[in-house]
Amino acid sequence: MNTEIIQVDPIRPDEGAVSVAVSYLRKGNAVVFPTETVYGLGANALDSDAVKSIFMVKGRPHDNPLLLHVSSLEMAQRCISEDLSCYSRLTDKLWPGPVTLIFHKSAEIPLTATAGLDTVGIRFPAHPVARLMIELAGIPVAAPSANLSGKPSPTEESHVLEDLMDRVPCILLAGKTVFGLESTIIDLTQDPPVLLRPGPISPEQLRETLDDIAITIPDISDEHIPKAPGMKYRHYSPDVDLILIQGDLEQVVKEAKDLAKASRAAILCCEEHKQAFASVAIPVVLGSLERPYEIAMNLFGALRRLSDMNLDIAISESFPEKGIGLAIMNRLSKAASKIIRV
Ligand code: AMP
Ligand code: MG
Repeated sequence: MNTEIIQVDPIRPDEGAVSVAVSYLRKGNAVVFPTETVYGLGANALDSDAVKSIFMVKGRPHDNPLLLHVSSLEMAQRCISEDLSCYSRLTDKLWPGPVTLIFHKSAEIPLTATAGLDTVGIRFPAHPVARLMIELAGIPVAAPSANLSGKPSPTEESHVLEDLMDRVPCILLAGKTVFGLESTIIDLTQDPPVLLRPGPISPEQLRETLDDIAITIPDISDEHIPKAPGMKYRHYSPDVDLILIQGDLEQVVKEAKDLAKASRAAILCCEEHKQAFASVAIPVVLGSLERPYEIAMNLFGALRRLSDMNLDIAISESFPEKGIGLAIMNRLSKAASKIIRV
């Protein structure tokens, strides 16, 4: 398949350029578009065949539900059976933005999109390109991340081209995404609502923003919490074993030394600890501890790089689980083949 690659301005996208992607969406094709979290692979959510093509292009298991992307509250209302205005205290504060809310689906949404569930995740992206594309299309767009299944979500143009070039008819490129991690997911079909996936908007920010709206925040590191559908899949894994070490820096360096000896090893670490690991393994620096959003933005790119470094083993240090750090550690734990606590 020939892929039309269209470069668009991330802040002021050209309507004519984005319309090309829209015409493919209308024809039932899947297209790649940027969002503020990661790049998405989107298709008409109301067309079951179009939705099926997303699963096919990615090689995504059919029991892993998709999120629906909308560009207005009216469009969100069309996708769900609850009265959306009853949730205005939440939607006023969280939308548009990197937060997905789970509702009961409306009859119009095909079960192929929700993997047979009667609930559906709705996301109202803030990214100008995503918003314009969905607005021009006038239909909700079902979209998972635009990577091949099993690979880290794409956060940079090169990731998208690496995975989906010649597999889709159209790719909109607009540079790096903003957060680099998938959306925060809150399930509103449970009372009180439950945080299903940590993301760019942290539990601390949710508590602060929503003050009197209680949200159950399960201990994400607790392996016994019931998993959301699709979360049983180990996403994001690099092609080499990744060992995540948790503990004090001195102990982590010691453990990393043991793991790395006599093999070609790399270690994911922060700027501040680069020196401490320099004699142990090849440092792959994610960013400074003072700028955790930078660490988040660089994580998936770094995981992809590990696969290209011809390594025997990859190691990662841990990051503080506060703010966006909780989402960083959630994704790192999923990518890891083993977690060692020292
Ligand atoms: P992504 O992989 O970023 O496309 O996000 C999709 C993930 O959202 C799925 O793997 C599920 O874990 C979660 N999800 C989607 N729809 C639902 C739903 N109806 N109920 C609960 N979780 C959902
Ligand atoms: Mg994904």
